[in-house]
Order: sequence, then C-alpha cells, then structure tokens
Amino acid sequence: MKILFYDVKEYENELLIKYLPKNIEGYFFKNSLLNSTYIDEKFKDVEAISCFVGSSLNKGVLSKFKNLKYIFLRCVGYSNVDLNYCKENDIKVYNAKNYGNSTVAEYVFALILNLERKILASKIAIQDGVIDSEILMGYELNSKTIGVIGAGAIGRKVINIAHGFDMNVLVYDIKPKGAYDFVELDELFERADYVVLTCPLTEQTRGLIDEKAFLKMKQNALLINVARGEIVDTKALYEALINKKIRGAGLDVVECEEILCTNYEFCKNGAKNSDFCLKKYFFIQKLMQLKNVIITPHNAYNTKEAISKIIKITLENIEQVKNKNTSTQNLILL
Ligand code: NAD
Repeated sequence: MKILFYDVKEYENELLIKYLPKNIEGYFFKNSLLNSTYIDEKFKDVEAISCFVGSSLNKGVLSKFKNLKYIFLRCVGYSNVDLNYCKENDIKVYNAKNYGNSTVAEYVFALILNLERKILASKIAIQDGVIDSEILMGYELNSKTIGVIGAGAIGRKVINIAHGFDMNVLVYDIKPKGAYDFVELDELFERADYVVLTCPLTEQTRGLIDEKAFLKMKQNALLINVARGEIVDTKALYEALINKKIRGAGLDVVECEEILCTNYEFCKNGAKNSDFCLKKYFFIQKLMQLKNVIITPHNAYNTKEAISKIIKITLENIEQVKNKNTSTQNLILL
C-alpha cells in the first residue's frame, strides 16, 4: 500500500521512516494537502493519505484520488474532512484519539494562569523596569467555577486538573457520561468564571459561542478555546471584550487560522474562502492587540510526548489496516 503523508514535520519524518511497517510505501510532504496542491500522476492511484489539521480534505481534493480507501489523520479533530464524501465512497477515516489529553488539558491551565497571573505582562514589566503591582494584580483559581463544554478525553483531564486547584466544576455535554455536575448550557454560561471549550467542531457547535452566549456569561468570565476556532464567533467575541461583557480570552485556535501566516502564497492558497476569512482576520488582528487576550498558533497539542504518541497511534492504525484487523478502534464511524 502507498501512503502519502502531508503536513510532515522533520521529527515526524524520521520516526515514520524508521517505524513504517514493511510493504508500506510512504511518501512524505511538508506541505498541507489543499485544493491547490499539485499531485503527481504517479500518486493519483494511492490507497491512503495521512495528514494533520492544516490539510483540507474536501470533495475537490479527495476526488483526485480515485482509489482512496483510507485516511489516517494525525490529529483528533476531523472537521477538515468531508465525511459525507468518505461515506459515499467507502473511505475509512482513522484519527489519533487520546494522543494528547494531558498535553491539551494542561494548556488550558497555561492559558488561564497566564491571563489570571499576568505572566506576559510581568515579563514585559520587568524587561521595561516599570513594575506596577496594581496593574500586575491577578486572580486565584481556588474556589472559582470552571465550565467545561465537552467532557470527552480532553475535557475530563481538564476537570481532573481543576479539582487539583479546588475549583467548582460545571459540565455541559450532549452525551453526558460520568459523575459530573452536568448543567444546561445557559446555566454554565451564567455561573462559570472560566468557560472552556473542549468539544469538537460540528454543525451543532459551529458558532456556538455567539453574541447571545456572551450576553449570558458573567462579566468577569474568561473564555478559553483549545477546540476549534469556528466554535466562537470572532466578531462577537471582540465586541463582548470591548463592551466588557466578559473579562478576557485565551485562544489556541481561531477562525480561519490558516490565514494567520506571513507567507502570502501560503495564505492565499490556504484560506478556505478568502473574503470570508479576510473579515475574520480583521477581528483577529484587533483581538491580538488586547491586553486581556492571548492568542496562540494552534499549539496546545505540541509536546514531545504528544507527538510521539500521534506517530505511535498512526502506525497502529496503519498496522490495523495492513493486517485486515476489523477492530473499529480509532475508526471514525461514518
Ligand atoms: P472527544 O471525542 O474525546 O470528546 C469530545 C466531547 O465533546 C464528547 O464527550 C462529546 O460528547 C462532546 N460533544 C460533542 N458535541 C457536543 C456539543 N454540541 N456540545 C457539547 N459537547 C459536545 O474529543 P477530545 O479528544 O476530547 O478532543 C476534543 C476536541 O479538541 C477535538 O475535536 C479537537 O477539535 C480539539 N483538539 C485541539 C487540539 C489543539 O492543539 N488545540 C488538540 C487536540 C484536540
């Protein structure tokens, strides 16, 4: 079986080459797989592709591969894949579930603590030699209420860590499981000091955090998004912040994140719909200027441990297919 690997970083390349099962021919590309990606004739008959969140596996892209049977995602989220097309064309989609639950959950607290304890502002203050303890005064997490939207693998880790900080935890999930304090979404918005998004991007969650949601939130609330940018309406968030409807935001993901780069060609090719994304970009730029906002470049997954696990799980998924194992582990059921 031939597999085309896209979005491949150097450290992944080494591991994949070293551990790829025998009889699998791997071809490795640094770039993402997008509408504009050139695909050599000799690769159009491949049975499998593997990529990360930067690739856009829409109908136009997928239909270029006439023999495609498998997609091995090296990530958890699959909102960048046209699952309907996969279903219609009998393409099996695997993801790398549970590769980085702790990695991403810890990042939620990195964002919260940075905002609450003004770590970046303190660094700048000491560099500038202008230390104003009134400006640098923060908030502690103890006894505060965290509202977790999506109590899956990552959400549950967030809840565990929150208990360590002696926080109260409220949870909203469309499929409530486990002994948590499940509440309706509106109640979570009304009571949470920290609204944390750890749910997938689906048609139900797209734009879930909109103007109406901000109106329900506490004025001192912080919004933390490590899930997908499209769950939050960027313009509504900016307006909520400048109108002091909420106190701040920590965002590892933003809408149209592929446009946030310095390489014009890459942006041009990468942006889903440049007009739509340019409007988002305008508000993202404004958000970046705010002192009570931290935006990071979809980096919550990025630890040595998580990356090794992604490769391990991807190789297991490939082995599973190679050995005609009928287990549905890591298979996204279409
Ligand atoms: P998971 O599938 O284990 O958990 C998702 C949870 O969300 C489930 O409990 C599900 O029932 C719940 N859910 C689904 N729809 C919902 C809705 N409408 N409202 C509330 N809850 C809903 O997934 P996970 O491993 O915990 O990952 C969650 C998301 O985090 C991924 O889909 C991905 O988008 C994102 N993620 C981001 C990074 C990053 O680097 N920033 C890394 C990994 C994952």
